[in-house]
Amino acid sequence: MLQLFMPLNFLGFVYREIRRALTDLENMLGLLKRAPVIADEPDAPPLQLQQARVEFRDVAFAYQAERPILNGLSFTIEPGQRVAIVGSSGAGKSTLARLLYRFYDLQSGQILLDGVDIRTVTLDSLRRNIAIVPQDTVLFNQSIRANIAYGRPDATDADIDAVIDAAHLRDFISQLPQGDATLVGERGLKVSGGEKQRIAIARALLKRSPLLIFDEATSALDSHSEQAVMAAIRAASREHTALVIAHRLSTVVDCDRILVLEQGQLVESGSHAELLAQQGRYAALWALQQHEEDVTLD
Ligand code: ADP
Ligand code: MG
Repeated sequence: MLQLFMPLNFLGFVYREIRRALTDLENMLGLLKRAPVIADEPDAPPLQLQQARVEFRDVAFAYQAERPILNGLSFTIEPGQRVAIVGSSGAGKSTLARLLYRFYDLQSGQILLDGVDIRTVTLDSLRRNIAIVPQDTVLFNQSIRANIAYGRPDATDADIDAVIDAAHLRDFISQLPQGDATLVGERGLKVSGGEKQRIAIARALLKRSPLLIFDEATSALDSHSEQAVMAAIRAASREHTALVIAHRLSTVVDCDRILVLEQGQLVESGSHAELLAQQGRYAALWALQQHEEDVTLD
C-alpha cells in the first residue's frame, strides 16, 4: 500500500509544480501583452530637430486600460519658448514628460516634434534630441564628472566646467577630497537630494539638446540655489525649447506660458499675469502657495 501511495504522492507534487510554472508563464505572457515593447518601426529615419516645436494632438494615455491618465490632451509649444506645466500631484505632469521621451506609447492621438510623429523616428535619435531631468535621478557608480558627461561623451573639459558652474556645483565639488573624480552612486559618496538634482541639471545642460525637459528639477534646492539654477536654466533655454514641470509656482512666474493640468486635462493656459487675472485654478494655487510661504517664513 505504502509502495503505491508514495509514487502517487510524488506525481501529485510534480503535477502541482507544473501547474504553477504554467500559471507563471501565463502571467508573464499576459504582462507582455499589456505592455507592448517600444521599438523602432522598420526603416524608421532618425529625427532631425531644427526648431523643437512640440505638439500634443488629442493625446490619450493610460498605464492600465481601466484608469485613463490623459484624456484628449492638446497643446503646442513654439520653438524657443519656455513653457511651464503646473498642477496638483497626480495630475499627469511626469507622465507627459515620459511620453515625450517615449517610455510608453499612446492609446490614441499623436505627439509631434517639428511636425513629425515621434513613433515614426528611431528611439535613439528621439532621445538624443531631448535632455530630460527626471523627477528621480539615478546616479551611476562613477565619478561626478563621468555622471555629468554621460549624455555627451565628446564634451571637452571646458564644456563640463561650464555646466558645473551653471548648475552651482562648484562649491560642493571643491569641498570633496577628490573633487569631481569622487565616486557617487549607490556604492560611492552619499549625495543629498539637492546635490543629485544639480548633477542631473548639469548633465542635461551639457547635452545641448534642442528640447529640454525639467521635471520638478529644483524641488530639493533651497530657494537661494533654486533661483540661481533657474537662471541657468533660463539662459540655456534661450536657444532651446524648454518644458518646465513645477510644483513651486514661484519658479515659473516668468515662463512664456503656463499650462495648468488637472486630472489629465488642460484647464487653463496663459502667462502668469493672465492666469492671475482669470482668478481660476492657477490663481487659487498661487494664493495657496503664497500663504504657505508666509507660514514657513513665520
Ligand atoms: P504628477 O507628475 O502630475 O504628480 P504623474 O504623471 O506622475 O503625476 O502620475 C499621474 C497618475 O498616474 C497618478 O495617479 C499616478 O499614480 C499614476 N501613475 C504614474 N506612474 C504610473 C505607473 N508606472 N503605473 C501606473 N500608474 C502610474
Ligand atoms: Mg511628477
